[in-house]
Amino acid sequence: MGELPVEHLDADMLILGAGGAGLLAAVHAHEISRKLRIVVVVKGLLGQSGCTRMVQGGYNCVLNPSDSLERHFTDTVKGGAYLNNQELAWTVVKEAPERIIELENRIGCMFDRNPDGTIHQKPFAGQSFDRTVHKGDLTGIEIMSNLRDYIIEEDIRVLQETRGLDLLTSDGRIAGALLLNIRTGRLITVRAHATLLASGGGATMYRISSPSLEKSADGLAMAFRAGARFVDMEMLQFHPTGLLVGKSMATGGLLEEGLRGAGARLFNGRGERYMERYDPQTLERATRDVISRSSYLEIMAGRGTASGGVYIDVSHLDHNFVATTFRGMVERCRDYGFDLVHDRVEVSPSAHYQMGGVTMDLDCRTSLECLFAAGEDGGGVHGANRLGGNGVADSIVYGARAGDSMAGFVGGRELPRISETQVRELAAKWTVPLDRTSGENVFRLREELDNVMWEKVGVVRNGRDLETAAEQLQILKDRAHDIAAPGGAASNPAWNEALNLHNLLVNAEMVARSAALRTESRGAHYRQDHPAPDPAWLRNIHLTPACGEMKFHYEPVRFTRISPPEIGVITHASDLRHH
Ligand SMILES: Cc1cc2nc3c(=O)[nH]c(=O)nc-3n(C[C@H](O)[C@H](O)[C@H](O)COP(=O)(O)OP(=O)(O)OC[C@H]3O[C@@H](n4cnc5c(N)ncnc54)[C@H](O)[C@@H]3O)c2cc1C
Repeated sequence: MGELPVEHLDADMLILGAGGAGLLAAVHAHEISRKLRIVVVVKGLLGQSGCTRMVQGGYNCVLNPSDSLERHFTDTVKGGAYLNNQELAWTVVKEAPERIIELENRIGCMFDRNPDGTIHQKPFAGQSFDRTVHKGDLTGIEIMSNLRDYIIEEDIRVLQETRGLDLLTSDGRIAGALLLNIRTGRLITVRAHATLLASGGGATMYRISSPSLEKSADGLAMAFRAGARFVDMEMLQFHPTGLLVGKSMATGGLLEEGLRGAGARLFNGRGERYMERYDPQTLERATRDVISRSSYLEIMAGRGTASGGVYIDVSHLDHNFVATTFRGMVERCRDYGFDLVHDRVEVSPSAHYQMGGVTMDLDCRTSLECLFAAGEDGGGVHGANRLGGNGVADSIVYGARAGDSMAGFVGGRELPRISETQVRELAAKWTVPLDRTSGENVFRLREELDNVMWEKVGVVRNGRDLETAAEQLQILKDRAHDIAAPGGAASNPAWNEALNLHNLLVNAEMVARSAALRTESRGAHYRQDHPAPDPAWLRNIHLTPACGEMKFHYEPVRFTRISPPEIGVITHASDLRHH
């Protein structure tokens, strides 16, 4: 292949990812100083990629005087099974209302209204008050289209269809990143004072998953290779109702939980309403983890449907109500030949969201100098389980905070020096598959990874399976070094999938190994061999890379605002009000 040409760019701020987190960071930094040279890098198209665009349900925040920040916070921490970093969670709750107003007034979003003109808020699971702001069931499109327009109008530089390959380091700090223009195959180095990871996690490493496909844990893997610290990587959420559409890419796409809220029922392949056995009180309104686990156990016990799922059924509800209230989902089902209004539709748990991620502080600083993280790449906000509606609030709040703190950070500094040798070595490493004419088939390896994760590190885990998974992941890692992806660097899907696979394997190993350590069940992490939560495990698992290996240590959760009932301390509601 020879050496690929490399272009060079200088910037004050480099933002990797253009979902809610990345774009809010750009907006905030730009509003602080229009002189800042901001470069946003997006693997897909601006406004069209990532999961923020896919947000159907909405954005949680306290707007109604009868609601309170304390209630939202308590719901969030209870939902997170008390594993959350409470200061990170409190900050989302506190700043989410200001950001929703900013999205309307500065960015131009318009959310659904009540007849009196106030913003309409709907119920979502795990909430003690109806606080989900939305635009029908297309909230993400409203947010992302308006953010895209802002970025274009303000002429902020965006490199589209360009992916971050690796972070660059200089004198012990992060100095920018090496990028690949996916279309042209050209490499680009960006030298920057501050770099933000906002590439949105990688729950796509499961056979059935809901996030947008270009998300392949790139930011997490780049951070790992650069030596950043991670927290609670075992915590990965499964949404209970992903569509099953055979081998189609649509498999895993969500039927959102408003359906269950409205009275949807779940049946196994034998027609039994199985939630009567698992959670007779709450039935289908149980939380995501409980439903996902129950469905998975039914499927594994051989009581699933022909395609290995369960059925969701709303046919007993008023047909007109379903057709008008859930128009988006009804239409999506129709596109795949299913009649959601009149018939049962096959669904399965679907890997959805990573609660674990890069350790960050309130200003989005990571453990590495000049590296920041926000949104799904950051860990700690949601503890062991994320409430629906809190994900996009997290990305918007911490995206904004990252923009503020990075803009404050860059002033008066010299741009770092980038080593040509480092760039050449990284380029050589990543382009190896282009030079091979025969070797491992990346798509086959990807399928194997997705299956290992689904079967051994999935909804229901146990020590034996997690051990087997670690061995199988090691074998896949070794085989991945022999991938052949000939055909040139420009628009080469096999090569890009190879780059994805290397990153997903890093992510998979972090998740599997952390899951093996947590010998209890908590939130989204369920261990068949340790089925109960263990108060002794009110600890966060920290992972630090050490020469390519993983080192772990535990730290007790700091209950800075509320404590869990099992250690017998009540909520300090009065403390909350002072922060
Ligand atoms: C189907 C679905 C529905 C959801 N519904 C809700 C909901 O109703 N409410 C809620 O709160 N949350 C919801 N979520 C979760 C929510 O979408 C996420 O919490 C949030 O949007 C994540 O924002 P982000 O900015 O971190 O990442 P994303 O919005 O996912 O953006 C990631 C960005 O990084 C880019 N990228 C990836 N890799 C690279 C790379 N190597 N280089 C450069 N760019 C890269 C991507 O192209 C994308 O632009 C939903 C998720 C899904 C999948």
